Amino acid sequence: MATKVLVTGAGGFIGSHLAAFLKQQGYWVRGVDIKEPEFARSACDDFRLLDLRRWENCLEATRGIEEVYALAADMGGMGFISAHHSQILYNNAMINFQTLESAHSNGVKRYLYSSSACVYPEFKQTETNVVPLREEDAYPAQPQDAYGWEKLITERLCTHYREDYGIETRIVRFHNIFGPKGTWEGGREKAPAAMCRKIANAKLTGNHEIEIWGDGEQTRSFCYIDDCVLGIHKLMRSDYQEPLNLGQDRMVTINELADMVAGIAGISITKKHVVGPQGVRGRNSDNTRLRAILRWEPEISLEEGMRRTYLWIEEQVRQQIGTGRASAIA
Ligand code: NAD
Repeated sequence: MATKVLVTGAGGFIGSHLAAFLKQQGYWVRGVDIKEPEFARSACDDFRLLDLRRWENCLEATRGIEEVYALAADMGGMGFISAHHSQILYNNAMINFQTLESAHSNGVKRYLYSSSACVYPEFKQTETNVVPLREEDAYPAQPQDAYGWEKLITERLCTHYREDYGIETRIVRFHNIFGPKGTWEGGREKAPAAMCRKIANAKLTGNHEIEIWGDGEQTRSFCYIDDCVLGIHKLMRSDYQEPLNLGQDRMVTINELADMVAGIAGISITKKHVVGPQGVRGRNSDNTRLRAILRWEPEISLEEGMRRTYLWIEEQVRQQIGTGRASAIA
C-alpha cells in the first residue's frame, strides 16, 4: 500500500509542486492549507481547507498519516517579512508547534520541517561578497527578523521531539526557491517573481524603467523549484537528522538578476534605485554538507530556471493586462 503523507501548505508555491512530485513517486498525498492552489488543480488525493493555527485541525490533518512535510507558513518576500513581525511569529509558532505535537499524538513516523536561510545571523551577512553559510553558522543566533527566529525555535522543537519521542525529524533550510506557479504580485512575492513581473510589464507596456529596492548590489543565490522538491524528498528518505541547506551556491546581485531577466525578455531596461527593504547585504549557501549527505546538489541553472519562470509570469501579466486589471502595471 502507498505510504500516506501529508503536505501542509499544499495550496502554496513549494507545497503544490511537492504534492505533485510525491504523487508521481507513488505516495498517497493529503494536502492541507487555508486556500486552494491558485494556479493549478491540486494533485493531492485528499485536499482539505484547514487552518493549522487550530489544534483540532492539526489533529484532523495528521490523522492516519505516516509522514509529514510541514511547509505551511504565513510568509512572503522581504517587503512582507520585514513589516509583519508579530503576525508572522504568532501564526507560524501556532502552526508549527501544534502540527508537530499532533503528528506525535497521531503516531506519525517521519516529519520534515521547512526552515529557511533566514535563520542565519545578520552579523555574518553584512558584505555583498559574503562567505557562504554553513549549517553550524546559525549559532550564536541573531536572525534579522521574527520570521527567522520562529524558524530557529521550531528547528529546536523538531530536534527535541526526535530525541524525546523518537519521531524521525528532518530539517531543511531553503535558500530562495523560485519558479512558475508561485505568488508573483500582491506584496508577498519574492525577488525573482517580482523581477519577472516588473520586466514583463516593461515589455508589454513599453515603459522600460524598472524599480529596484536599494542599490541592487545586494547578493543572493536562487534555487529552482524542481531541484527543491527533489532535494526535499532525498532529505526525507535519508537518515540525516541535523539541519541541511538546500539551495544553489552561485551568488548574483539583484542588478545582475534584473539584467538576466531583461535578456530573457529581449528588452533593455533602465534601473531606478528606490528606498525599500533589502534584507541582509549578502547571502550564499555553503553546499559542502548537502553534497556529502545527499550525494547530489541542485542542477538547474539560474538562467534556465529564470527563463521558465519569466515565460510563465509574462503570460500572467499579459492576461491581467488583457482583462484590464490595473495591479499588473507596477
Ligand atoms: P507559500 O506562501 O506559497 O506557501 C505557504 C502556504 O502556507 C500558503 O499556501 C499559505 O496559505 C499556507 N498557510 C498559511 N497559514 C496557514 C494556516 N494557518 N493553516 C494552513 N496553511 C496555512 O510559501 P512557499 O514559498 O511555498 O514556502 C513554503 C515553506 O518554505 C514555508 O514554510 C516557508 O517559510 C519556507 N521557505 C520558503 C522559501 C522560499 O524561497 N520560497 C525560503 C525559505 C523557507
